[in-house]
Amino acid sequence: MKYRFQYLESVPTLPSEAMVRGSFVHRVLELLLARARDQRTNDAAREDFDAAQREFRLRDDWRMLALDTSDEEQFWESSRECVRAYYRIEHPSEAQVVELEKWVSAPLGEFEIAGFIDRLERDTQGLVVSDYKTGAPKIPQYSTDYFRQLTYYALMCETQMNETPHSVRIYYLGGPKDQYTRQQRVVSQVVTTDTLEEVRNTARRVFGAIESGKATGDFSTNVTKLCEWCDFREWCPAHGGDIGNAKAEASVRVQLRRRQVGLPESA
Ligand code: SF4
Repeated sequence: MKYRFQYLESVPTLPSEAMVRGSFVHRVLELLLARARDQRTNDAAREDFDAAQREFRLRDDWRMLALDTSDEEQFWESSRECVRAYYRIEHPSEAQVVELEKWVSAPLGEFEIAGFIDRLERDTQGLVVSDYKTGAPKIPQYSTDYFRQLTYYALMCETQMNETPHSVRIYYLGGPKDQYTRQQRVVSQVVTTDTLEEVRNTARRVFGAIESGKATGDFSTNVTKLCEWCDFREWCPAHGGDIGNAKAEASVRVQLRRRQVGLPESA
């Protein structure tokens, strides 16, 4: 159902602070790790933070958060805290980066899967697909969806680079600073023929469900606690909403926010 709202009905959404913070921290780390290893100093990290800050202040998504002065300071401070959490995990000069923000794609049956890998790195055993998450660490059992996402990237690397990454890895950068150990912040899963087959099967099942939903108009809902954070909850049939009103009402909301922050109306 969420897919239907987002991709078939094209219901626009307002950016969330968590989403923009995630993009911002990714950008800082991208700038830092794009430097030569001996140039990844603390001063460089501060410069990269400032450069990313200048970029983001001009971006529509950041402006549309409409933060007041104190919320803005809190936004930058929580972002700084994510960068500090990264430093507690590793010194950037140790990162064996192969490529950053790498675009990968691969055909899967009659579909194509694609995405950006935050960081492709190489250790003594071979390639590792890594991803930063700016939320608090989750225990490995609750990181299944993230591992699946990264295993798709491993599958795309295999197709595109003729080399299968041996592991996928998540760097959790959020949550209270003293609460988590390095082990809890860096979690990995080995890529095996079974995990690759599992994501292929999941993709086929999901693509099949989307195609059948498009033909019958019947999209399944998955009602959980997470619905509280879903952008489409008020129009979701599982919560008594009317999907027919979603696009018009959401567009009014988005245009209003754009006007409030001095941005031109979007198409
Ligand atoms: S409100 Fe819940 S069930 Fe409905 S689209 Fe969102 S996540 Fe899915």
